[in-house]
Amino acid sequence: MKIAVVGSGYVGLVTGVCLADFGHEVICVDQDASKIDALSKGEVPIFEPGLEALLEANVASGRLSFTTELAKSVAGADVVFIAVGTPSRRGDGHADLSFVYAVAREVAAAVSGFTVIATKSTVPVGTGDEVARIVRAINPGADVAVVSNPEFLREGAAIEDFKRPDRIIVGMDDERARAVMSEVYRPLYLNQAPIVFTDRRTAEITKYAANAFLAMKITFINEVADLCEASGANVQEVARGIGLDNRIGSKFLHPGPGYGGSCFPKDTAALVRIGQDFGSPMRLVETTAAVNDARKRDMSRKVIAACGGAVEGLTVGVLGLTFKPNTDDMREAPSIDIISDLQHAGARIVAFDPQGMKAAGVVMQDVAFADSAYTAATDADAVVLITEWNEFRSLDLARLKTVMKRPVFVDLRNVYPPSEMRRHGFSYTSVGRPDVE
Ligand code: NAD
Repeated sequence: MKIAVVGSGYVGLVTGVCLADFGHEVICVDQDASKIDALSKGEVPIFEPGLEALLEANVASGRLSFTTELAKSVAGADVVFIAVGTPSRRGDGHADLSFVYAVAREVAAAVSGFTVIATKSTVPVGTGDEVARIVRAINPGADVAVVSNPEFLREGAAIEDFKRPDRIIVGMDDERARAVMSEVYRPLYLNQAPIVFTDRRTAEITKYAANAFLAMKITFINEVADLCEASGANVQEVARGIGLDNRIGSKFLHPGPGYGGSCFPKDTAALVRIGQDFGSPMRLVETTAAVNDARKRDMSRKVIAACGGAVEGLTVGVLGLTFKPNTDDMREAPSIDIISDLQHAGARIVAFDPQGMKAAGVVMQDVAFADSAYTAATDADAVVLITEWNEFRSLDLARLKTVMKRPVFVDLRNVYPPSEMRRHGFSYTSVGRPDVE
């Protein structure tokens, strides 16, 4: 199959590289010339484990290439994937579809022969209809089927997720498109990934419903963690106790500083708006978003309390900035709000993140970046672990304590057993667990 992927960000690039690896002939398109230049030289502009090697191998095989010229890549393609961003529209939380529609217009003008236009971007219900309308208006003779094919990969495990997905959702009303999409994903039959064929609107809602449900699950356990803290129970054990119930499942039951990232915050906000537009309120999702927003402030208060009620003039070492480990993505990371709150309260911040400091430098002010966890902790009055990178799971606690000014450790990911921290002489605060084990 000849495939064009428009938008070479986290989703588009992983999609393009993996589809080339399946044996398809793929061209990745982006309007950002510096990104395409870098990719053409084999440089991957994002941090995603395994991506660089897979990209190199597929470029070398001749199946994968990069361009800024959308029209050329689309002419003759069997499938054009749209994988551009759908950020929150400034001010109202609606998904900003301007990038998707801009691509639809360009693609419409350039298609030749039967072409499937498959939207991978997360888009509100009805967007596929609008893409189809745009194509008809611009190129009435075009033989095109518009398909919804939402993406469920997780940053940090994107290649594994793409190659071994729990499911693939394809929404369409054209039998030829069904055959083309089956062929695109044929290699995955070997991995026994179920393909769910449905209509376009159902596919569009499925993506938002999945993300909102996961956001709700995280938020639920976070509230249970607060209740555990208030009542002397242990949220880890509650999570295990409920997670062993197959109807609930153990994943996404880890309490922490609230969800962030490029998807959950914007997708929950968009789903709330979609519900309002259709007169069908999404009250649980609305509450989830509000509870999650408040949580970040709660976390800075937790740090301040651990420091004895004030951080004015204190130095706080921060371990982990990205919204989760194994990515360099800083979009909507809880660290942004927590750090800004602590700064407002008068703290000086020294931070270390294995991959996120470049992106963090763009979104944070007055943060000193360190070159290791121990440097970030040096002379600190407190250390806060915000993102559970592997290297923060096995810190040399004796060394850490020696370099700190005061041994105050706030663990927002429950990485360490309280008893171990106490044994090392730390004043230790975590999430939803009693101090004594
Ligand atoms: P991103 O911001 O990393 O990448 C988007 C890319 O599209 C950018 O490189 C941008 O330059 C390019 N672009 C924008 N307009 C263009 C145009 N007219 N022509 C060519 N290129 C253009 O975004 P992302 O994180 O990859 O997300 C893309 C979509 O996938 C979003 O809708 C998102 O919600 C969804 N999604 C993201 C993830 C994730 O984990 N990041 C997971 C599932 C779904």
